[in-house]
Amino acid sequence: MASWKDDERKIIIDHNGCLRCCKLYTDHVTCECTAPPLKCDTYVKLMPEAAAKAKLAHDKCSKLTVATIFGSNSEGEDNVRGQK
Ligand SMILES: [Zn+2]
Repeated sequence: MASWKDDERKIIIDHNGCLRCCKLYTDHVTCECTAPPLKCDTYVKLMPEAAAKAKLAHDKCSKLTVATIFGSNSEGEDNVRGQK
């Protein structure tokens, strides 16, 4: 993508996104992006609603990840105790 409109750029930055591949909540920054740049013919305008959904999914995912980490830790301890 050659240029972003100001509102789209703001959405991407606000949602920890990548200006190159247009993904939100990436684990990389734009200059480290290895994804092929979006082409104009496949590009879908980034809407605040879509960004809000991505944020919800991201928040949910983060909580699940935390729960999984804590859950597996306590299960592991139980298993060790059970074997003794
Ligand atoms: Zn990217």
